[in-house]
Amino acid sequence: MNLNRYDVVVIGSGPGGFTAAVRAAQIGAKVAIVEKSFVGGTCLNCGCISTKFLWQSLKTKQKIQKSYEYGFKATLEPVVFEDIVSRKNKNIVNIRKGMEIILSSYNISVLNGSASFKDKNTLIVLNNEKNEESEIYGDKIIIASGTKPSIVKDFIFDGNKIISSTDALNLREIPKNMLIIGGGVIGIEMATIFAGFSCQITLAECADSLLPNENSEISEEIRKNLSRQGVEVITACTNALDNISKYEKVLIVTGRTPNSTLGLNNLEINTIGKGFIETNEFCQTNIDNVYAVGDIAGKNLLACSAQNEGAAAAENAVKGNIVAVSNLVVPQVVFAIPQSSSVKVSDFSKYKNIIFGKFPFTANGRAFIENERAGFVKCAVDKLTEKPLAFWIIGAHSDEIVNTASQILKSGIKHISRETMFHPSLSESLLNAYEDAFGKCTEIAAKK
Ligand SMILES: Cc1cc2nc3c(=O)[nH]c(=O)nc-3n(C[C@H](O)[C@H](O)[C@H](O)COP(=O)(O)OP(=O)(O)OC[C@H]3O[C@@H](n4cnc5c(N)ncnc54)[C@H](O)[C@@H]3O)c2cc1C
Repeated sequence: MNLNRYDVVVIGSGPGGFTAAVRAAQIGAKVAIVEKSFVGGTCLNCGCISTKFLWQSLKTKQKIQKSYEYGFKATLEPVVFEDIVSRKNKNIVNIRKGMEIILSSYNISVLNGSASFKDKNTLIVLNNEKNEESEIYGDKIIIASGTKPSIVKDFIFDGNKIISSTDALNLREIPKNMLIIGGGVIGIEMATIFAGFSCQITLAECADSLLPNENSEISEEIRKNLSRQGVEVITACTNALDNISKYEKVLIVTGRTPNSTLGLNNLEINTIGKGFIETNEFCQTNIDNVYAVGDIAGKNLLACSAQNEGAAAAENAVKGNIVAVSNLVVPQVVFAIPQSSSVKVSDFSKYKNIIFGKFPFTANGRAFIENERAGFVKCAVDKLTEKPLAFWIIGAHSDEIVNTASQILKSGIKHISRETMFHPSLSESLLNAYEDAFGKCTEIAAKK
């Protein structure tokens, strides 16, 4: 038996590649993953999980500082940021070990090295550390090579003054001040975390508002919250990099560039934009045995989308194209303080006759218990059918509540049912906002 021949070879072990590999093995394929860095990809090592560890550390600090509101007398020793980062890294290692155990439990081979196509079934795997080159054959190949931080023209990441999100997540000390270029999700999350640990933050965005594609009420609320937290927010700003001498660090988070140095030209794989790989609804490229999922396919640049596409591509690669990835209802979350989340039906823009309902967390009992009364739920409803079409949620735990909202929208139900909402819960506010669209919310005063 030739050990280097597999039914499915996956390039990259982030959420897209990991899910693809496990699912392919679950349905009987012999699978290998090629990974040039650490198992877990961007998501675990320098993305979702890493940022949320630091965010949760900040929330924990704030909870201690506010514990007197619950009747405790707790004092906080000075924060040692290095300890927080070390704890994050230790947890990342533990999560990674868990992922490696799962891969091994499905007999998935993990090859360390950088993969590039020799032909449509053969990958060359280069291991720089060992100075070794090998070849691996895949009947089907799934590309899940993700993205890396983009840099703006005339600058390079030096890891010292001009830093990427990956560098920022591993700083050992809180800088005195930091300029953040880019008011998208990552910029806002970084501003929240570092401002919370007493770094003077200037957040510059070239568009007229933060999160330019988000509902304006939400982006304005995020802006107000950041300002309250001491962040200087500058929008419509195109010259922020002209004078950077006064900043200790300049963090550039203006987007992501695809990891597409994979010998794609050898296959003539179709790419779009900056080098994202074009795929059809089955996550298949123009080369019939080659699939691409997650960030490299350039659709949503979210871990949940990468996982969804990874699972679908695995089924399609092993069983023929049977799972289409379409009509997506994808929740978006920004870990500001408080968190902001939103979700819409896939054809939201087609609806013209929309009514809105809104419910503040100051009227939610559980928000009082949690001592987290900031924010609101806003709901868009189709006036004709009374179907909920979208939710925007600003408030503590909105990242959890939005999953319920997504299921409501995905199921296509006409009315949100009262009996399914536990009390006291924050999720009840979805129902309250929906009922408010019809003037029927019983939890707020009559509008005169
Ligand atoms: C700071 C930050 C915070 C984020 N927060 C969130 C969040 O809260 N929620 C969310 O949904 N998304 C978040 N994201 C986005 C999320 O991390 C990505 O959408 C997700 O990781 C994409 O998964 P993927 O599998 O496509 O690629 P990745 O996770 O990028 O994994 C790709 C893997 O492929 C490997 N690779 C690349 N080229 C090769 C090669 N030639 N050979 C072998 N291996 C290769 C890489 O080393 C990497 O391990 C965040 C991103 C960042 C940067």
